[in-house]
Amino acid sequence: MGQITLEKVTKSFGATEVIPPLDLTIEDGEFTVFVGPSGCGKSTLLRLIAGLEDVSSGVMRIDGKEATNVPPAKRGLAMVFQSYALYPHMTVRKNIAFPMRMAGIDQAEQDSRIKQAAAALNLTDYLDRRPGQLSGGQRQRVAIGRAIVREPSAFLFDEPLSNLDAALRVGMRMEISELHEKLKTTMIYVTHDQVEAMTMADKIVVLRAGHVEQVGTPLELYKTPRNVFVAGFIGSPK
Ligand code: ADP
Ligand code: MG
Repeated sequence: MGQITLEKVTKSFGATEVIPPLDLTIEDGEFTVFVGPSGCGKSTLLRLIAGLEDVSSGVMRIDGKEATNVPPAKRGLAMVFQSYALYPHMTVRKNIAFPMRMAGIDQAEQDSRIKQAAAALNLTDYLDRRPGQLSGGQRQRVAIGRAIVREPSAFLFDEPLSNLDAALRVGMRMEISELHEKLKTTMIYVTHDQVEAMTMADKIVVLRAGHVEQVGTPLELYKTPRNVFVAGFIGSPK
């Protein structure tokens, strides 16, 4: 469960239309990457899906059910923020438990989900540390752990690796891809980095000025880019 559909969704800030009418389907279980230059509307689109921004018009569905006006916490989606969004005074365990405490999940269930998430993310030995005692990659894993325990129908990532150094970024890319293999949950991953898009995606959505230029697998976009913008962005020879 985790198909997300946008039907003629628009978003304006004041008089500026950042997202013109947009139709898009994110298939259940796929790793979809939104890619495009800075300012093209990637974060806005992700925030609309998460419910952190209201659409100006149009309809959004999750698994076929209208979700346009459903509050963020009730959408069953988990946004993964950059690791600096962790609570520095709380242990890893408490950081991961936080959304479950907010949701009123009982202690035994919390403990069991923390154990599973920690095992999936190689954090078992770090549960009693605080974020300040962890490496950048470990902190990023804690941020992902906090999303996993909510058992969302989709994960939404907004440039989660942009504050990590280059070497760490490569490792975390692989870890996130592995996590997708394990969980098989829908993931939407926003980046302006072509390499991330090409190496991680089942499907790439190329955005330009708030509209979809092309949707396809990395190979499709590489072999048959629709235009010079897509070709230039994906790095193919057209
Ligand atoms: P990206 O994530 O692709 O860099 P954004 O979605 O952050 O792009 O922004 C898309 C456009 O919308 C930009 O021109 C940005 O200035 C504008 N924008 C984003 N959020 C707001 C806001 N809260 N108020 C006004 N303009 C905004
Ligand atoms: Mg952004």
